[in-house]
Amino acid sequence: MNLNYKMVGEHVSNYAIGDSDEPLNFISFTKEMVNRRTINFFIRKRAVGEVEGNVVLNWIFFVIDGLGSALGSIFAMGFVIGSKKYCDDCKRYMKEKSILKFLSTDIDRTIKFQDIERLSPDQIKGLFLTTKVGRNDHYEVVVHWCEGCDNGYLEMKYMQKNSKGKMEENTNMSKEFKISPDTVKAILEQAM
Ligand SMILES: [Zn+2]
Repeated sequence: MNLNYKMVGEHVSNYAIGDSDEPLNFISFTKEMVNRRTINFFIRKRAVGEVEGNVVLNWIFFVIDGLGSALGSIFAMGFVIGSKKYCDDCKRYMKEKSILKFLSTDIDRTIKFQDIERLSPDQIKGLFLTTKVGRNDHYEVVVHWCEGCDNGYLEMKYMQKNSKGKMEENTNMSKEFKISPDTVKAILEQAM
């Protein structure tokens, strides 16, 4: 009558806990595991006492565990949002999408992207020829836009091999500038 996690034997839902009619499911199983958990207290690696069947204490530890995971995911979320741009007018985070990579030796495109506000939609279309960049120095173009007002930013991340041979952004060489709603629309039409 031991629990195994190998997907063999009889399914736990065929069993009930103790004398109750409650079948084993996720909630009742969790309750049971928490209520039965034995907590050992150690001082300098020597067990000094064992509290068995202290339900209240077990639940306290269970809640602390849960709080830990909840806080962990909040921090993780903050980290993701941390890289996102914010629209002050609409009070919302912008969307972002990596749209294109091209070699840094492609001077023509480098200049045109920086001048994108002055290009016609057709000229913008002409920038979207895909090129194989491999592990050479290249720009990764990321568009950020606000879904409320369509204002945005164009980010040109300069990517190059670091000393370990991994591609990494060289922020000193990267460029970033504001773009108008018209430009955002023209870019997204090509990138979607
Ligand atoms: Zn906005």
